[in-house]
Amino acid sequence: MTDAIIVCAGSGERAGFGFNKLLADLGGTTPFEKCLSSFRASGVINQYIIVCRDCDRAAFTEKAARVGVEPVFAAGGETRSGSVLAGLALVRSDVVLIHDGARPFVSPALIRDCALAAATFGSGVAAIPATDTVCETELFEGRTVITSSSRTGKYLAQTPQAFSTELIKRAFATMTPGETFTDESGLFAAHIGRCNLVEGEITNKKLTYKSDFALSGDLYAGTGFDLHILREGRKLILGGVEIPHVKGLLGHSDADVLTHAIMDALLSSASLGDIGKHFPDTDPRYEGISSMKLLGEVMDMLDKSGYKPKNVTAVIMAQKPKLIGYVPRIRENLAAALKISEERVGITCTTLEGIGIVGREEGIAVQAYCLCEKANL
Ligand code: MG
Repeated sequence: MTDAIIVCAGSGERAGFGFNKLLADLGGTTPFEKCLSSFRASGVINQYIIVCRDCDRAAFTEKAARVGVEPVFAAGGETRSGSVLAGLALVRSDVVLIHDGARPFVSPALIRDCALAAATFGSGVAAIPATDTVCETELFEGRTVITSSSRTGKYLAQTPQAFSTELIKRAFATMTPGETFTDESGLFAAHIGRCNLVEGEITNKKLTYKSDFALSGDLYAGTGFDLHILREGRKLILGGVEIPHVKGLLGHSDADVLTHAIMDALLSSASLGDIGKHFPDTDPRYEGISSMKLLGEVMDMLDKSGYKPKNVTAVIMAQKPKLIGYVPRIRENLAAALKISEERVGITCTTLEGIGIVGREEGIAVQAYCLCEKANL
């Protein structure tokens, strides 16, 4: 059987969270839970050893319980080697898998492959072929210079790194005080001998910076619908553009039916209610107000909740007037308010064949959709 040491000792300083990045939100879960779930799904783990700072222990215990794992803990050391050594003291199985908690996308299959290689050959280290050329450098007259460059035969080491427990313990025991290694494959190769390579996964990325978390932002669809009645003596405003017509739309605000449907789509994507809730038509503050101004307020609400529009589309249902000529200005206006480029705003127009409320020119209706991204920061 195999024990897993998952190194979670970082403080998240480089990621700039002010707390352990493995507890940060990652699409509704945390890197720690995602990582632990993969290990559990691999079906080869006997004991989970979490190496972390004392202050994070309670949080990791709670998150581990959510994925059905009851780990044991070791105190994180000053260095990676110190942390792994503390974990090794608790290992009971013949094979040990050492993994970086900051690689949450590891697959159960890769975990099994590494464990199997270690059980068979004494070691199994995940690595992927280098796609960029690796340069050897040195300092020369105060400058960094390249002494050789090559990609042939070069791999980039990942984790898991699995070893025979006995061999990796021996490697640590023979390590001299001056030696430092960035991972256990280096230590093993230097002190025991050839280390077996297991083909890793490009998706097994390490989360280092805050931007790495943003990459995995989730997308949320939103939908909104609105209809306003056409009346003589009112202005017709769509997407903030005034359109000359014999009738205009009736409403408490400027009755910009297009902007209203878009606001509802945005709010619905973030589950923030609807415009009736936020801007009630009984509130005198909103009488005659420009709906583009209200759209700005909706954008602030989304921003506070971590949502950003990726694109917005809407179909305007109007029998008259012909709107096609105004679409470029409407898109330009909306794109600026939504802080996205114009090609991300799609506006289509249709008549309703002379039937129904719209067809009889009694009103204009709009159906809008949006896609918003929620950053995992
Ligand atoms: Mg409305």
